[in-house]
Amino acid sequence: MTSRATCAECGIPTASYEAVEVTTDGGACRLLCSRCFNKEMAERAGLRRFEHPRFVPVRLHDADGVAHEFHFRTLLFGDDRLSLEAFELESDGDPGGFKVHVLGDPNGDPFALLAKLVGKMRRLVSMKHVRNDSAGLQIIDQTVRGRVEWDHVENANTPCVVVDGKRISWDDFGAMLMAFEGWQFKLELRDPGDEI
Ligand SMILES: [Zn+2]
Repeated sequence: MTSRATCAECGIPTASYEAVEVTTDGGACRLLCSRCFNKEMAERAGLRRFEHPRFVPVRLHDADGVAHEFHFRTLLFGDDRLSLEAFELESDGDPGGFKVHVLGDPNGDPFALLAKLVGKMRRLVSMKHVRNDSAGLQIIDQTVRGRVEWDHVENANTPCVVVDGKRISWDDFGAMLMAFEGWQFKLELRDPGDEI
């Protein structure tokens, strides 16, 4: 169930992942839908011809043939950066699972940016790094790509990782690594927009 927020500008209920909290010059906070947020940003940045692109969800199949529904969020940051994100939704309506992100030119073709993003989405869902069989979770090859996230435990200092679009606890991730006891590893942290 997607939780909803009401945009302070247009008054239209919007999915919480589409809502952006904006602090006004006077210090007050306003919740805007992404369309109203982008409209204000475009006016401030002098982008008179900018139009907020709205993309319908896309379904892609992973390496096991399982369908994943991606939702989109487009946010304008100044006159030179348009952020386009795709993500799945958790049961609480927050973004989770597979996530992909690209940055583009606000004056460029939004569908070209979408095509770039979809290319990244396809490559991401086609990869499989972990399998779950009778022996439990196991690393298939010798490379694991994923994302570090909060594990939803208040005051805990351990993260969880999201691999193949699935959340894996830090303990389970450690147990998978025990199959490689004595091996070396190289941990490289990369920006969310990088392709890994
Ligand atoms: Zn609005």
